[in-house]
Amino acid sequence: MSDPFSPPAWLSGWLSTRRPVCPRCGSARIVRDACARWDTNFGRWVLAQLHDRDFCETCEADIDDPLAWVPLDQSQERPPIDQEGSR
Ligand SMILES: [Zn+2]
Repeated sequence: MSDPFSPPAWLSGWLSTRRPVCPRCGSARIVRDACARWDTNFGRWVLAQLHDRDFCETCEADIDDPLAWVPLDQSQERPPIDQEGSR
């Protein structure tokens, strides 16, 4: 059974060298809401749908903007970026 959440071949190579980060603070601790459905063939929960909403576990922001994709070696945790100059 093919995985409906796997990217197409032309994109998977690029994605294997990158990961999404929070556009607000740069953290890689991103989670996304999803639904799971019990699959009797596999005997386990399988991912049924990914929702569009992302959440950053570091700065606790609901992310509405597109995620930033950075090379894997630049995705380490780092201090939040002060974009607003308000901290
Ligand atoms: Zn963040």
